[in-house]
Amino acid sequence: MDSDKPLRIVVVGGVAGGASAATRARRVNANAEITIFEKGPSVSFANCGLPYHVGGEIKDRAKLLVATPELFWKRFRIATKTEHEVVAIDRGSKTVRVRTTQPSDGPTSPADVTETDVPYDRLILATGAEPIRPPFAREMPENAFHLWTLSDMDRLLKFVHDNTVKRVLVIGAGFVGVEVVEQFHRLGLHVDLVERLPQILTRLDPIFAKIVAKHMESFGVQVLTGESVASFELDGPRAIAARLESGKRVETDLVVIGAGVRPRTALAAAADLTIGPMGGIVVNESMQTSDPSIYAVGDIVEYTNGVTGQKGLNPLAGPANRSGRIAGEHAGRGSSEKMGGVMGTSIVRVFELTAASTGLNEQQLAKSGMAYRTAIVQAASHASYFPGAENMHLKVLYAPQGGRILGAQGVGGEGVDKRIDIMATAMAFQGTVYDLAQLDLAYAPPYGSAKDPIHMVAFAAINDLKEHPRLLPPDADLSGYQIVDVRTERERREMPLEDAIAIEVDAFAERWNELDPTRHTVVVCHTGKRAHVGACWLAAKGFKSVANLT
Ligand code: FAD
Repeated sequence: MDSDKPLRIVVVGGVAGGASAATRARRVNANAEITIFEKGPSVSFANCGLPYHVGGEIKDRAKLLVATPELFWKRFRIATKTEHEVVAIDRGSKTVRVRTTQPSDGPTSPADVTETDVPYDRLILATGAEPIRPPFAREMPENAFHLWTLSDMDRLLKFVHDNTVKRVLVIGAGFVGVEVVEQFHRLGLHVDLVERLPQILTRLDPIFAKIVAKHMESFGVQVLTGESVASFELDGPRAIAARLESGKRVETDLVVIGAGVRPRTALAAAADLTIGPMGGIVVNESMQTSDPSIYAVGDIVEYTNGVTGQKGLNPLAGPANRSGRIAGEHAGRGSSEKMGGVMGTSIVRVFELTAASTGLNEQQLAKSGMAYRTAIVQAASHASYFPGAENMHLKVLYAPQGGRILGAQGVGGEGVDKRIDIMATAMAFQGTVYDLAQLDLAYAPPYGSAKDPIHMVAFAAINDLKEHPRLLPPDADLSGYQIVDVRTERERREMPLEDAIAIEVDAFAERWNELDPTRHTVVVCHTGKRAHVGACWLAAKGFKSVANLT
């Protein structure tokens, strides 16, 4: 590179990662020549906001355009070329081939396609992910849509505006699918949600996902899990129903497919950049690919997992922005902070519930071969005597040795976001459940409790680690156990537990000696709190093996 010439930084893709990279590069290098090529019509739009405009919660479409090419130029002197697709990288000559297509003048004249080679000194790839098109949607019916770009959203809304839509079928119960369900319900439409896997929102463990699914059903949404779409039943170009593998038929006027995404790596693969086993581009901690002049950021890369240290995909906006910033800085000045581990911290609003998680869930931990234990508590969002407290379920997954936090999940009303972010923060510092129990959190009755849900779940986990008593998961096999039910008579009537010996918690001090101290014993109540009291009594009275059902 000729040192008199300005550094030429070319960015491919101008939304989350690309826009962050370009602006950071400018902030660290005032002389560089920075260009963004974006194949779509807009840069820096808020794709996370798309579902909320569909339902009218974000009323003004213009609010989704976070920054415009004019602003990029005016404030940053970054040249932003929309409707310019990078179609090839020549690493030898350090150029990218850029294609622009001018629409044709009429049906007989062909579109005017121009290709130009543009040189770079540093290239930043931020081409994002693309929606997976399942086999039944190889040919998309006229009324079937993805929701991934502004243009997708515009076409979807135009269809809703121009047609009578009463029933919507959403295929795929990931974040986007679930958000879209809520927004169509908001528009007064009937919504069916079909998910191939046995549960919705697979970042959650099944018990938590079930709470969310039931909540959706309470709003009239039909949630069909473990059901695959086999084909569409067409009337002309439109789908009027989906046939499921089980034989069920779901009628519809409009279909939204959210069946997952895959990294858009064709450009990088064609340039022989190393692609990892998970299908993302391999990068180092400065976001450099196998070619140090080329960076990759966002949904196309394999991040380092903050818990396992293994590489994996995590198509989320936070890591895309952070990795973009790091790549932009490194490209602009040759050094940067290192990209930290990604926990996959995520959150979604589902009607009146919030569901959030961070780190690994049980299935991922089992797959990675890491030993773990779990504790779940039910707690109020703030002091229960102060009006407006909302219930939440909070779960922590931790290492049996040392109690390092491996993951956490929360489902409930107000305050779930705060608790999951606390968990993610503690995990970033390799925190343990012992650390959680010691956290000095802000408290006044409208905001929390002197013993916050974070403390409560940590106490439960610490009791488990100290076997004071140990916890059994809610789906544990209790055969062979002496089961002690400490709930009230009314609770037992409403939800009977077979083969259990009933001793209400307040009668424990008198009646514990009716139990056999030589047997494995598990104490059970509704949330685990009273069972803990009962189990502590028994342990203190010399029972050899006592557990609490969490
Ligand atoms: P993108 O933001 O997707 O940008 C990639 C850009 O590259 C695209 O504009 C594309 O047109 C362009 N491009 C691709 N190939 C080329 C090429 N060859 N030449 C030129 N340009 C090219 N994440 C969250 O964390 N929370 C949420 O609530 C959330 N909600 C979402 C809701 C929706 C509807 C969607 C679609 C995504 C949501 N996400 C959410 C995910 C988040 O938006 C992505 O993880 C993030 O945008 C990824 O950033 P990126 O820069 O890697 O890719």
